[in-house]
Amino acid sequence: MEKLTIDDFKKMLRVAMDNISAREEEFSKLDAVTGDGDHGTAIVTAFRAVCEGAESGTEFKSMLGDMGFNVMMKTSGSTSTLLGGFFLGMSDNAAGTELDAEGVKAMFKGGVEGVKKNTKAMPGDKTMMDALVPAVDAICACPSGDIRQIMEAGAKAALAGAEATVDMKANFGRARNYGEKSIGYADSGATSWSCMFASFAEAIG
Ligand SMILES: [Mg+2]
Repeated sequence: MEKLTIDDFKKMLRVAMDNISAREEEFSKLDAVTGDGDHGTAIVTAFRAVCEGAESGTEFKSMLGDMGFNVMMKTSGSTSTLLGGFFLGMSDNAAGTELDAEGVKAMFKGGVEGVKKNTKAMPGDKTMMDALVPAVDAICACPSGDIRQIMEAGAKAALAGAEATVDMKANFGRARNYGEKSIGYADSGATSWSCMFASFAEAIG
């Protein structure tokens, strides 16, 4: 796959929406270990707003911008802010109606930068950053020019990153108050974001 089109990207969003919705309860149960147990509802609601923002999109920059703004306008909370920052950051680094491999890498790199504007969490803190940062590092480091292989590399790294949070102690936000009790369970946000990256790869695979 040498080019990623708008239709390809909308399919990635649809598959992610379906897979995230199917696991809503699981994400909330993970969040309940160290928090208020609302992550499933939060990510499903926020991702729906992201997808609505993409509906009329015909060009990457404005569509990604609409997605980011829509989720930030219509939903609230940290999940909304992080997803908004992600898609707005992607918008900063994307243009046109199709992207080649380098364009896809640049877009996701912009996504991480957009998230970093909205959180001080670092990899190792047991947050969604533990899925996002390795995923985008793997996407950018993938030597292939095949966008399928690039997204597959991102999916694998995101899933491994989320799995690695099982052994971590929460070190960010309210979850850090739970200390040792947070060990033994994956972080809810890392799990849902890894589901998103896995869905992106599945959609074009
Ligand atoms: Mg929560």
